[in-house]
Amino acid sequence: MDREKKLNLFREIGALQEGHFLLSSGLHSNIYFQCALVLQYPDLATLFCQEIANYFSNFDFETVISPALGGIIVGQEVARLLRKRSIFTERTDSKMTLRRGFKLNQGERVLICEDVVTTARSTKEVIEIVENSGAIVIGLGSIVDRTIEKINFNFPFFSTIKISAETFYPEICPLCRQNIPIIKPGSRK
Ligand code: ZN
Repeated sequence: MDREKKLNLFREIGALQEGHFLLSSGLHSNIYFQCALVLQYPDLATLFCQEIANYFSNFDFETVISPALGGIIVGQEVARLLRKRSIFTERTDSKMTLRRGFKLNQGERVLICEDVVTTARSTKEVIEIVENSGAIVIGLGSIVDRTIEKINFNFPFFSTIKISAETFYPEICPLCRQNIPIIKPGSRK
């Protein structure tokens, strides 16, 4: 599927909205993207995860790891397609941890999977967990790349699409200046 087809599909299912949005960070943006609305359709999850799986199919690794909550579906699906083990990290008291008896072995080769990479905050936390276990990150696969500046990882980063958004501090937001009503996504009217 080419980029334009993907964007149209995202618009059609409401995953991608264009306008004037208040993000949870407090910043304003011209784009809102909710990956869960793509992944609610298992066939679409398979379609996009297959692209990640294809990219990493010749890489040598045993395990897929993903940060909860958003990454879990992607990690599970990529692992299913490539017949790997799939585990996830989760936040407890705001600290990312590996719980539920999940373990990584010394030297184990691991692929990180995410739904969306924006600031790569959660990615970096997962890298730390993997490396503290003595395991090795071999790559990062994501449905969407929303990074603003290029992030230098020590391994390949593959995403199925890059969606750039403009974000603004409220005081200098040009959309506010044009009196475009602001929408808080996910909230009830
Ligand atoms: Zn604004």
